[in-house]
Amino acid sequence: MSTKATVMAPRFSMMSGPCKICFKAAKWLPVLFIVTVVVWSYYAYVIQLNLFTVNSIMEKCFYLLVYHILLLLFLWAYWQTIFTDIGRVPKQFRLPPSDLDRYESAETEEGRRAVLEGFTQKQNLPVYNRTMTGDIRYCEKCVQIKPDRCHHCSVCGECVLKLDHHCPWVNNCVAFNNYKFFILFLGYALLYCLFIAATTLQYFIMFWKNQLEVSGKFHILFVFFVSIMFAISLVSLFGYHIFLVIKNRSTLESFRAPIFQVRSTVMQDKDGFSLGAFNNFVEVFGDNRRLWFLPVATSLGDGVTYPQRCVDEDTDDLLGARQRWADDEECELTDGYINNHSHALEEVVVQSNHTNPV
Ligand SMILES: [Zn+2]
Ligand SMILES: [Zn+2]
Repeated sequence: MSTKATVMAPRFSMMSGPCKICFKAAKWLPVLFIVTVVVWSYYAYVIQLNLFTVNSIMEKCFYLLVYHILLLLFLWAYWQTIFTDIGRVPKQFRLPPSDLDRYESAETEEGRRAVLEGFTQKQNLPVYNRTMTGDIRYCEKCVQIKPDRCHHCSVCGECVLKLDHHCPWVNNCVAFNNYKFFILFLGYALLYCLFIAATTLQYFIMFWKNQLEVSGKFHILFVFFVSIMFAISLVSLFGYHIFLVIKNRSTLESFRAPIFQVRSTVMQDKDGFSLGAFNNFVEVFGDNRRLWFLPVATSLGDGVTYPQRCVDEDTDDLLGARQRWADDEECELTDGYINNHSHALEEVVVQSNHTNPV
């Protein structure tokens, strides 16, 4: 796998002193809430249900074994989502003082555009996403060119590689570096809730039949309700992100399709980064099947460049569509993308070219 992007941008903030500390502390409250619910659910499920209520030793062992495996995977993925450093933009994308002066002193839009175009060409930056007006994407706050799929997070105060969204429940951006962890976190949280709900169901029924005569029966009742409640909200979120992975879109891109510069044409294409369902999955989860469902870093790419579907205005297929998969002879721009990626991703893209000609 290629190296992660280097750190460059300072964090900007309008606040200082105690105010800043209070704001930072407040941002951890949703995480604290989740941890509190998990600790309580542990008490309710392990102590009240399994130690004090379940009579069968076999049943007890099975419940505790599966529960602890799911809990471990869930907390591991949660930890990785929270504490993985978000991908920041390499320093090559930052405007040097001389170009920044020229950019800020330019009196017209064309003048500023020329500065950005000139800098991008001079640095040979691999940027193909454009603004709605067809300009190079530039962050005024971080004074840098935005790499493809990069967006500025107003909560973190900096540009983040392949930003999906800022998630208060993990107090972190969900972005290139931790997207796989976030999906696993949702998936294991859902399994954790479903397992608790399924195994407490019979005791929940016993409660309503007045057959449950233990002191902690209300914990068992509530852990069933809470697990069902969380499972309902998680299933839609998890399903939505699986859909996004299969489509190779971020949440931001699903709301506003990215705009691509291909030769002299600027086109909006919501599937511009899609390489086919399996290859899209591999791009996020990696090419080692044994590590797909473990929260370890296996995503392909460097977070700055992405293989993309080529949009060629000269192509006209049977369906009248003008989009086709990248091809060595047909799309020079995509070559640069693919060559910058790991060998594994290169292979899946080549496979994709052979299997998906349109
Ligand atoms: Zn920024
Ligand atoms: Zn953020």
